[in-house]
Amino acid sequence: MTGQIHFNSHLWVVTDVACRLVNALTTGHDGTRPVEPPPVGHQADAVRAVLERDDYRPALTEDQANALTALAERVREVFTASSSGDVARAARIVNDLLKEFGAAPRLDPARGGGWTLHFHGRDTSIVLGWGAGIAAGLAMAIGSDLAGRLGVCQAGPCDRVYIDTSYNLGKRFCSRRCQSRVKAAVHRAKSKR
Ligand SMILES: [Zn+2]
Repeated sequence: MTGQIHFNSHLWVVTDVACRLVNALTTGHDGTRPVEPPPVGHQADAVRAVLERDDYRPALTEDQANALTALAERVREVFTASSSGDVARAARIVNDLLKEFGAAPRLDPARGGGWTLHFHGRDTSIVLGWGAGIAAGLAMAIGSDLAGRLGVCQAGPCDRVYIDTSYNLGKRFCSRRCQSRVKAAVHRAKSKR
């Protein structure tokens, strides 16, 4: 991880999930490919694919998946506002989310010993749990020296979001693929002159 900043691990998990939920569930473009919402009846599969890890396989109803998809839409607005410099708007949305999901800090035993700070929701349901965690993660990112690290891909028509973990805040694209597409277009434009 040379040349990259280190998010604390819990903050990294929740902001990374926030990012992947937006990219999997909100319409727009991934590179040049249009992204449609998951077909009715398959939303839970799409959300589960984002959340699943080796040691975490959540059960999800379609209603819960719908609620997390609605959350993804609002998280996209946070990324869009923050990356366009309207941090006040991003902060307002995050404050609303914190309140709605009842995010509350709590110390839990860490896997390797010691304690780790987590944010829990008003109850232990999957929607409030992830909603609170994501809202708190975005709040910590915006309210710290990590502000300015929430980005939207600059390689139009792509509008997938990313977290810039580079030291110099130099990331502009969601992926290498988008970066190469822009480089190739610049190269073609130059060689035509
Ligand atoms: Zn992109």
